[in-house]
Amino acid sequence: MGPSRIESLERLKQEFQKLPGIGARSAERLAFHVLRGSRAEAAGLAQALLDVKDHVKHCGRCFNLTEHDPCGICADPYRDASELWVVEQPKDLMALESTGLVRGVYHVLLGHLAPLEHVEPGDLTIDALVARVKRGGIREVVLATNPTTEGDGTALYIESLLCEYGVLITRPARGLAVGSQLEYASMGMLEAAIRGRSKL
Ligand SMILES: [Zn+2]
Repeated sequence: MGPSRIESLERLKQEFQKLPGIGARSAERLAFHVLRGSRAEAAGLAQALLDVKDHVKHCGRCFNLTEHDPCGICADPYRDASELWVVEQPKDLMALESTGLVRGVYHVLLGHLAPLEHVEPGDLTIDALVARVKRGGIREVVLATNPTTEGDGTALYIESLLCEYGVLITRPARGLAVGSQLEYASMGMLEAAIRGRSKL
């Protein structure tokens, strides 16, 4: 560390470098970008970072990310609360929402079962899902986990828990190539998968 080292600039570079996909060069570029900008711009960035941490939480009902609990989807009286779409992550929910074809509500698992990585049922929101189904009022549960080995395994596990409650359990059609992620699926593929779901 020579005498030319500028402490606060170094610290900003180090913080940027902790972000995913940001290497040393990008971190430096971002740090200088902030340095060149106005104080107001820097304050806006800092405030946006803090706001996300302070205001974004999981919906107590569906575990979607939201600033209000229950979230806008759960609170919407025009949604069909008897049709429950189970997805792995909020980004999967957003992909399904972008089609405008889902009239039901969601349940976000916040992951998938991965025994080798020690992700057990207790690490996901499966207990809350079972409790929702147990409470009644749900006619169909669509297991829209990703069509991967882990997603399929998670769907089968959930099906084994829910089958005793007399609800229709379906899975979106395999319009999605095996191994593809729901969030990257094209709109046409998503539509085909949503409309063509079949009984598990
Ligand atoms: Zn919600």
